[in-house]
Amino acid sequence: MKAVVYEAFSAPPQIQHLPDPTPETHGVVVKVMATGVCRSDWHGWMGHDPDIRLPHVPGHELAGIVEAVGKDVTQWRVGDRVTVPFVGGCGSCPECYSGNHQVCDSQFQPGFTHWGSFAEYVGIHQADTNLVALPETLDFATAASLGCRFVTSFRAVVDQGKASAGQWVAVHGCGGVGLSAIMIANAVGANVVAVDISGDKLQLARELGAVATVNATEVASVAEAVIEVTRGGAHVSLDALGHPATCFNSISNLRKRGKHVQVGLMLADHSTPAIPMSKVIAHELEILGSHGMQAYRYGAMLDMIQTGKLSPEKLVGQRIDLEQSIKALTSMDEFQGVGVTVVTEF
Ligand SMILES: [Zn+2]
Ligand SMILES: [Zn+2]
Repeated sequence: MKAVVYEAFSAPPQIQHLPDPTPETHGVVVKVMATGVCRSDWHGWMGHDPDIRLPHVPGHELAGIVEAVGKDVTQWRVGDRVTVPFVGGCGSCPECYSGNHQVCDSQFQPGFTHWGSFAEYVGIHQADTNLVALPETLDFATAASLGCRFVTSFRAVVDQGKASAGQWVAVHGCGGVGLSAIMIANAVGANVVAVDISGDKLQLARELGAVATVNATEVASVAEAVIEVTRGGAHVSLDALGHPATCFNSISNLRKRGKHVQVGLMLADHSTPAIPMSKVIAHELEILGSHGMQAYRYGAMLDMIQTGKLSPEKLVGQRIDLEQSIKALTSMDEFQGVGVTVVTEF
């Protein structure tokens, strides 16, 4: 198969021809029809992820068709249209038994713990636990774009933040994660305040359902601006970027007993941000994380897509081929495009 491979961190990846994968007894091989290009892939390539062993094939936001099935798999057949969460569960640890595959003790993460989907084929472990069937009407590029940013936002807003009708939800950072969160929070009936430093992104945020916006470059204090708009602070606030400043603002703009959900990754120099802990205590704030979503929770999200309440296809940006994915990956920190770039030709 053709695959994008890197043999050293930060060194240029190359297209290589590798043997096709074979399924584990509990796994499947998926023919990749679409795979998203994500900042996490860039972090991995930079060497920020200790799970990655070299040489490595990146890619974790995938959708495709089951090509081969291991002998112990009971739920899936060759030809099934599928996607997977970026964290796969082992199915047999205490976290998996409690239904929390997203924090499994021995996680399977294509593109991190194992070779990923910047390739014609990818092996997926524990298929009965981790595969998600795609509705016929959902195209592969949109399905791939759900992979990590959209599902992580869904879990952040719905399962962790428990945002509900009439609540104020603040979203800090309007990239792929933030715009997903805005769409989802709006769909559950919350009033969304979007925060960013780009007027264009705030305009897109408004089109996707934000009722108010704050341009962080135009106000003295982002937290004060959000508190003013929301008349007392957000009930739920998300750091959708993953930066010490947005994390601090997201906690600081909460009303009493509000919930902060950290969605953007905090890696390398950003891994231990300042937290206004005196406010967390005095106002009984909650600080939560969101780390993907279990395969079995996809049904609720897919139903909202099928019924037209969520439109993730609006977040799909450029469609590129495998060759172009190398540039898209390595220039991720310079290039601030709108929407999710998806590889659709291999
Ligand atoms: Zn597990
Ligand atoms: Zn991702």
